[in-house]
Amino acid sequence: MSAVFRGNRQVSGRGLRATVIGVLFSFAVIVTVVTVMVLGALESVTKSSNVLDEERSRETMSGALKTFKAQLGATLNDYAAWDDAATNVYAEDGMPWTISNYGDMSVNSTLFDMAIVVDADRKPVMVYREGQPMQGSLDDFFAPALWTIFEKAKAKAGRNGSPEAVGLVSTKSGIAVVGVALVREKSGALAVPADKHRFLIFARHLNTATIDKLSSTYVIPGLQLVSPDFQATYSVPIKDADGVVLGRLIWTSRAPGDIGYAEVRPKIVQAIALVGLFFLVLLIIGWMAARRLRADETLAREEGHRDRLSGLLNRDGLGIAIDGFVASAAQTKRNVLILYLDLDGFKEVNDAYGHGTGDQLIRAVAAGLTVLIPEGAALARIGGDEFAIAFVSDGEHAAALQLSEQILDFLAEPLEIGRRIVVVGASIGIGMSPAGTIDREELVRRADLAMYKAKEAGRARMTLYDPAMDADREERNALELDLRMAIEGGDLTLVYQPLIDADSHEMTGVEALVRWDRPGHGPISPEIFIPVAETSGLIEALGLFVLRKACETAKQWPELRISVNVSPGQFRNPAFADYVRYVLKQADIEAKRVTLEVTEGYMIQNPQRTRQAIERLKALGVKVALDDFGSGFSSIGYLRQFGFDRIKIDRSLVKDVMEGESQREMLQATVALARSLDIPVTAEGIETEQQAVAVRMFGCDTLQGYFFARPMPAEQITERLMDARSRRMAERRNSAA
Ligand code: C2E
Ligand code: CA
Ligand code: CA
Repeated sequence: MSAVFRGNRQVSGRGLRATVIGVLFSFAVIVTVVTVMVLGALESVTKSSNVLDEERSRETMSGALKTFKAQLGATLNDYAAWDDAATNVYAEDGMPWTISNYGDMSVNSTLFDMAIVVDADRKPVMVYREGQPMQGSLDDFFAPALWTIFEKAKAKAGRNGSPEAVGLVSTKSGIAVVGVALVREKSGALAVPADKHRFLIFARHLNTATIDKLSSTYVIPGLQLVSPDFQATYSVPIKDADGVVLGRLIWTSRAPGDIGYAEVRPKIVQAIALVGLFFLVLLIIGWMAARRLRADETLAREEGHRDRLSGLLNRDGLGIAIDGFVASAAQTKRNVLILYLDLDGFKEVNDAYGHGTGDQLIRAVAAGLTVLIPEGAALARIGGDEFAIAFVSDGEHAAALQLSEQILDFLAEPLEIGRRIVVVGASIGIGMSPAGTIDREELVRRADLAMYKAKEAGRARMTLYDPAMDADREERNALELDLRMAIEGGDLTLVYQPLIDADSHEMTGVEALVRWDRPGHGPISPEIFIPVAETSGLIEALGLFVLRKACETAKQWPELRISVNVSPGQFRNPAFADYVRYVLKQADIEAKRVTLEVTEGYMIQNPQRTRQAIERLKALGVKVALDDFGSGFSSIGYLRQFGFDRIKIDRSLVKDVMEGESQREMLQATVALARSLDIPVTAEGIETEQQAVAVRMFGCDTLQGYFFARPMPAEQITERLMDARSRRMAERRNSAA
């Protein structure tokens, strides 16, 4: 349970650490991606913002040029479609008017710098530039595109449209916007034939001043007029009426995106730095938490290897220590020795004085062992009252035997626990791994097996592991397997030993005893296979079989009581009384005819539960007898409280009765003791007449033993009963005669 719990903690600790790192990593990735995206977006915003601005500038520029042309067109219209002009320009003496109203106007005007009047045949009537008459031919000064515009205006004059046209023309002094318009009345009427038409031409040069004006009016910084083949990303071409590119307008890009970017960038850098700092802090916190977790884990793992009560290592801790010893011994060619130690009588102390005292006893033993063990040894508590010591030694078993002796000596001394004095012993098993050639699992198994043998051989001793023990173990396993099959196959049989009334010498009952003819081995004593059944969990099935069989058989003997032996293993089961009731009902036998024989060993260990179990059985009506009285612990106090219906004096007491006075007194005292409690007494194991006489004299009312009858098959009991009947009938006949 605790191992599982610890396991989970470890997993969750490691898991949490992984999660923290995982989350931080994910966040770092997300932040990086977001940063890249934000910067990318910003860059594209910057770019498109720049592009948009350039586009806008170009549109503005184109618009400005159009406006520039439109302005000239409007001015031209004002001057050409004018009633006074329609009169004066066509009059014989109209020249002074024409000069003062057109020619003189070409100076200091922001609207036009040349004013020209030509007739329908392109012949100049008046040519003025910046207030002065201009010499030379028009074709020398203007590019031919002038006439394209002229023809356009002239063509319109023939139709209904406004007889005006505007365009760009290259001139000797640069590029000019040129407008041509028919001179006419405001209404558009003109009383002059087409071949006498006169046209007003205005020109406005794109010089530095006009360009600067455009630049400031339309907020396009650095506007410049350059040659047509000038390379620029953004420019507006200036084309003449024939579509020839005369030049280009270029400007300084304001790159508003770049400006914005430059402004935003430090802020973004700050924000990312802040986020980075945040994650750094998170990372540090996470790392610290993970470290604390790891420390907790280590502590938990260490705690998990310790036994709480004694403070010694526990089974896990011991396993780790032994693994370490075996590994190092394999290199140094030394030996690993291990002692398995089981306290004798610990359960009795626990039961008699309570768990508090039991715990104190464990601590006292742990303290004593700690002092005795060699330096560097591992000391562990591996079970309720089991300890183990492992260490590395240069020698062979000697060191372990010496240590065992010291431990047994120490435990032989009475221990003072609180106000009580308790005496415990120990059984010690010793195993060795020479030069680390035997691994932990096998080493532990050997020590455990040796300890088991030590206990079996009688307590308070030490036993070295011997390969023969494995053979024993194997034999025992084989026996267990065969016994299991025998129980399942119903191959066990029962024999019955008569119980004799001390006064009448009549058979008044029988004790059922189980028999097993083991295939290939012959009869096996119940004294061998009953303990095996008890330790292998087979005893319940076996006991149930015996009880059922005995009750069924006894039905045919109405005048007899039937005694059945019950093992502590059966008795311990809280459902035992229930299955007794069930069997009695199935066999249809009177409960009062059935006696269950129990031994006292278990009762002393569990007085409370024993009392409850006996009460339940007695409530069913069955009798309960105490078997083997006088062989073991025998405490009179218990006998009284349990309310037994009968006591059976142990065979060992009966056997020695003729040996001497003290044995005789012993038997006499024991029977007297039972009789003082008003409990009838049976003597078993009676082999001689003297024994029979003695026990009868001491007060036993029922006798059992080879002297009267050996255990026998049911048929022989039936025969005996029939013999007794006919004997009684004969006696009656005799007495009647
Ligand atoms: P137990 O209950 O004390 O049974 C009496 C034993 O003493 C029997 O041995 C019996 O054969 C033997 N015995 C009877 N009279 C004499 C005698 O005059 N001299 C000698 N030397 N021995 C005598 P058994 O049948 O070998 O049984 C041994 C023990 O095995 C029993 O001792 C009992 O504890 C146990 N046992 C036997 N049958 C069963 C059973 O069905 N269930 C349980 N749980 N235990 C059983
Ligand atoms: Ca018995
Ligand atoms: Ca007995």
